[in-house]
Order: sequence, then C-alpha cells, then structure tokens
Amino acid sequence: MLKEFKADLHIHTCLSPCGDLKMSPRAIVDQAEKKGLDIIGICDHNSAENIEVAIRVASGTKVNVLAGMEVTSAEEAHLVALFDRAEQALELQEVVYASLLPGENDERIFGYQVVVNELDEVEDLNKRLLIGATTLTLDKFVEIIHSLGGLAIASHIDKESFSIIGQLGMIPEGLKLDALELSPRLSREEAKVEFSQYADFPLVCSSDAHFLEDVGKRSTVFLLKETKIGEIKKAFGNVAGRRILS
Ligand SMILES: [Zn+2]
Ligand SMILES: [Zn+2]
Repeated sequence: MLKEFKADLHIHTCLSPCGDLKMSPRAIVDQAEKKGLDIIGICDHNSAENIEVAIRVASGTKVNVLAGMEVTSAEEAHLVALFDRAEQALELQEVVYASLLPGENDERIFGYQVVVNELDEVEDLNKRLLIGATTLTLDKFVEIIHSLGGLAIASHIDKESFSIIGQLGMIPEGLKLDALELSPRLSREEAKVEFSQYADFPLVCSSDAHFLEDVGKRSTVFLLKETKIGEIKKAFGNVAGRRILS
C-alpha cells in the first residue's frame, strides 16, 4: 500500500563549516519529528562523517534518515547525493576526499567542522577543506553516485551561487540528473515558469537548512511504499502509482 511521506532531503549538520554548531544529528532528528517530517537527507559539504550517528539517533523515531552528501564538482556546482545506507555515502566520501582541492579548513573564516556522537559530544574536528571544490566533474559525479546506487539531484537550481545553472548558465544536455532541487525562496509554480525548458526533470523542494529553525522549512511530499531510494526513484518516474504529491 502506498503512503504519503513528507521529506526534507537536504539538511546540513555541524560538520559543514557553514552549518550552525547547534545542528547536531540528535537536534536535527528532534526538530524533524516536531516538524512532522518522515524522511530527512543529511547532506554535509563533501563529507558524510555525521551520517552514522544521525541514523542511530533516528532509529526508534518516526524519522527515516537518508545518507547523503552535498558534493562540489570541478565546475564549483553543488550536487546532492542520497543513499539508503551510510556505507554507500562513506564510499562516496572516499572518492571525494581523494579529489578535494588541497588545503586545510580555516576555522576563523569558514567555521568549525564538527564530528559528534549521539550525545552531542565532539568526537573530532575535520581539518579538510570541505567548503572547497573537488577535481571531479558533474558528469563523473553523477556516474559515481549512480554506480553506488544513489540519487543525484542538482542543488538549489534557483540560486546564483554554486548551482549548476549559476555556474554554467544551463543544465548540460545529457547530464543524467534524477531531479532538480528548488531552494525555499522559489515556489514550485514559479519554477515551472522560470525553468520551463527543464520540465522533463522532477522537482523537489528542500530546506538546505544550516540552522535548526530551518529544518522542514521546505519539503516534498511523496507517495511511496516505503522510505527507500528505489521508491523515490520510482516517484520521480511516476512508476506504479509512486509520485510527488506536492
Ligand atoms: Zn549548496
Ligand atoms: Zn546545502
């Protein structure tokens, strides 16, 4: 039987340098419960080190955590990758870490990159330049994400900075994206007009939250059998009744 699931597929934790330090996995899951979210995607910049904790703190709650990452391509465009399991995101992380531009995070400029445990205690400070780009092109990223069984969604296409359209002026033909994401500032109706040439792509609305109060600020309601990547993929393709409701 198909059910409605409310999803916010793009949320940063305190591991992202720009993420508020209050964005611990535990606090995010609590907030997601309060906002009535059924599915959340944990997507830190170029890292997945807080995913396993997020999945653990969500177990036993109504919130299902998808293991995600917001990667930065060589074109300096952001792409959301989403997986069912932490191991898949950690495999992507290995590839990303090997192709990050050299340099260390300057905490005074970009902010702390905090790995935490279930009790919100600091486990580690990540020193990599997570805010920077990688040497992997968009094409290559989409190929890797798909080979790992994930979904590749173009981040905040309505934003000038770090979106595929902002960086390249268009979505390259043949780029096998699963969906396009809208930031909270553009409605689905406005997007259908502004991006009418990309009407073939499914649209998702996500918060891209960096602060607790923004979790669930935008969401996508899916009709699915269960909260699995394969089901969301079917919803993108309107397969067997699965679909995006709003
Ligand atoms: Zn982004
Ligand atoms: Zn983001």
